[in-house]
Amino acid sequence: MASITSYGAAREVTGSCHLLESLSCGRVLLDCGMHQGGDAVDRLHDENFAFDPASIDAVILSHAHLDHSGLLPQLFQGGFSGPIYCTPATAELLEIMLHDAVGLYLRDLQHKNRRNARRGRPLIEPTYGVEDVEAALAACVGIEYRKHYALGETKTASLCFHDAGHILGSAITELLLEEDGQQKRLVFSGDLGKTDSVLMREPAELQEADILLMESTYGDRDHRPESDTLTELRDILQETWARGGNVMIPAFAVGRTQEMLFHLGTLHQRGELDHWRVFLDSPMAISVTRVYDHWLKLLDTQDIRALDDLHKTSLEEFLPTLSLTPDTEQSMAINRIQRGAIIIAGSGMCTGGRIRHHFKQGIWEASNTIIFAGFQAQGTLGRLLVDGATHIRLFGEEYIVKARIATLGGLSAHAGQQQLVDWRAGFRSNPLTLLIHGEERAQQVLAARLRKELNCEVQIPERGQRVEF
Ligand code: ZN
Repeated sequence: MASITSYGAAREVTGSCHLLESLSCGRVLLDCGMHQGGDAVDRLHDENFAFDPASIDAVILSHAHLDHSGLLPQLFQGGFSGPIYCTPATAELLEIMLHDAVGLYLRDLQHKNRRNARRGRPLIEPTYGVEDVEAALAACVGIEYRKHYALGETKTASLCFHDAGHILGSAITELLLEEDGQQKRLVFSGDLGKTDSVLMREPAELQEADILLMESTYGDRDHRPESDTLTELRDILQETWARGGNVMIPAFAVGRTQEMLFHLGTLHQRGELDHWRVFLDSPMAISVTRVYDHWLKLLDTQDIRALDDLHKTSLEEFLPTLSLTPDTEQSMAINRIQRGAIIIAGSGMCTGGRIRHHFKQGIWEASNTIIFAGFQAQGTLGRLLVDGATHIRLFGEEYIVKARIATLGGLSAHAGQQQLVDWRAGFRSNPLTLLIHGEERAQQVLAARLRKELNCEVQIPERGQRVEF
């Protein structure tokens, strides 16, 4: 009997981590992600594995987002020494993500410890370091989509990745297990992308499984069509140009930034971005964009054809008015531009990063616009602005918000409700379905639809609940 136990992304959307136990492949973790939100140092020090890392034989990583990969270094710190299976593109992105995360963590820890020292309190020991990041990166085994890979000591299990269409390299995991002479097929959706997103392909459709772990982030709602997004963006830019201002776009480094660059490139190619200069003002997003350029062949064929037809081999070439500004001096020089600058900078929810410096320069000017292109969590500066705050605090100073605050709908890296139902309907074998990676309310709504329309057996596992199959 094989079993699966969810230790994270169980009735919640972060901390993806599921333990598969099977005779044919041993103890395998599906993802090893961190919980997100709140203070990073406190949170990491609260994360404890509910199992002995040294007892784990291997990790299968669905994609590079930190809520799926962020605890891999701690797993090594705890004694894990096995391989991490992921796509080669995920391995490249992981290098950027984990190095960035450990850098921020150690910096925050240092700040905290300086404060602790001043107050005469004990110092906090780091839970992991750069050497654990290096160990995790060295353990990555790249497996391309649709290639079968034998797993486990007896090699009786096999692993195959399929494109999940969520971010570059993201994978749906298909595992064939041999249990007491019986074949069992497990499918783990990872995060599923939208069918109408730019750059990403549609999530692969699978037909056979005995057990399915399926994400349910948007189990209770659909997104607006992405085709409207381009028109909305063009209108916001025209209106800002008429007011004589600049545009600031807080964006996540992986995925959303590259989508924005593609949308802006499309406007440029249509001659609708003539007055504007675009700045990608984030060292991390610049590195990630280069990885996307390296793997263009994995991206949506139709969108890439738009580049090919113009003999463009990178997102930068598709948008020739783009300037990359990795250095702080270059970043500060953008502030001298009064009109016609589009500044894409992190962080996506304005909790840190260079976007806060740009706000300092321009949020109090009525000619400027801030465009939100992604989800803003409770308690973040981004959420305050989207909710209509008239004054905010930045670097200890109060600022009046006079810039126009615009939100672009339709951009999401996750499938909406109808698409989740359609994807599940593609399975001919009607597998037992475990809903993971969703708030409980969204999961209940999706479960009800799946039971009613597809007559399927659905469970919503709690953290630590073991399901045998
Ligand atoms: Zn993700």
